[in-house]
Amino acid sequence: MLSAKHFSMLLFAGLLLSACRSAKVSSPGSVHVVLGNPSNAEASTAQPENYLIERPQYALSYNRDRGIPNWVSWQLNASWLGALPRLPFSTDDSLPDGWYRAKADDYTGSGYDRGHMTPAADRNRTPEDSQAVFLMSNIFPQAPDNNQGPWEKLESYCRKLVLQGKELEIIAGSYGTQTTLADGKIVAPTHTWKVVVVLDRLGAGVDGVSNATRVIAVDLPNLNGIKRKRWQKFRVSVDQIEAATGYDLLSNVPEAIQKKLESKVDSQ
Ligand code: MN
Ligand code: MN
Repeated sequence: MLSAKHFSMLLFAGLLLSACRSAKVSSPGSVHVVLGNPSNAEASTAQPENYLIERPQYALSYNRDRGIPNWVSWQLNASWLGALPRLPFSTDDSLPDGWYRAKADDYTGSGYDRGHMTPAADRNRTPEDSQAVFLMSNIFPQAPDNNQGPWEKLESYCRKLVLQGKELEIIAGSYGTQTTLADGKIVAPTHTWKVVVVLDRLGAGVDGVSNATRVIAVDLPNLNGIKRKRWQKFRVSVDQIEAATGYDLLSNVPEAIQKKLESKVDSQ
């Protein structure tokens, strides 16, 4: 016979186990993808066009055939910010054997910047953090006026928000093919996009997202000639980015809230 004491112990163990399982599903091991993994990327060479790389500094979906990330996702709050200097770019030797590994030189003379997805200034508190963002798997061919203009202005605005006490869940990516570098091994995309979820409480994760949560989404042409334009000019809805990319962004957010937040265009 099972005593009441034993029964409650078993019950407790069972609850603990199921709590661990559901935690694993809603937050797959990383604070950087608490709001979702929009392309269901996996760390499996069986899907080389959607290959998940998780680092302490960010999570990304790498595309072997484009030689760039599809998207990179990262948490930002004031604790990530430091003042270490920029580093040289380095080849990502962690990519699977046999895959082309982009070199900093591949971009030389191309007319494109080595554009960071996770910005250098968002990860400059420790040498490890800096090294992670200067890996070429976090880099894509970015038109200088996009990179140094509205894209950079939005990056700076995000850091301003976190210094006001906000926590951001940011995801950025690109789509389209404009041209290629390195004999076709690296694609320069036609568009760059970013979605920023602004959370009022630190560490709240998906529970901090409500119908009132501010979400900033932008979609920029990867072109010169936009350097002096404001980032606000490129605001779109998350739905528009989902339509352009085929991803389900914010997929861990309850469906009803997603619907509400994804149809709006930020106007603050
Ligand atoms: Mn940049
Ligand atoms: Mn969605």
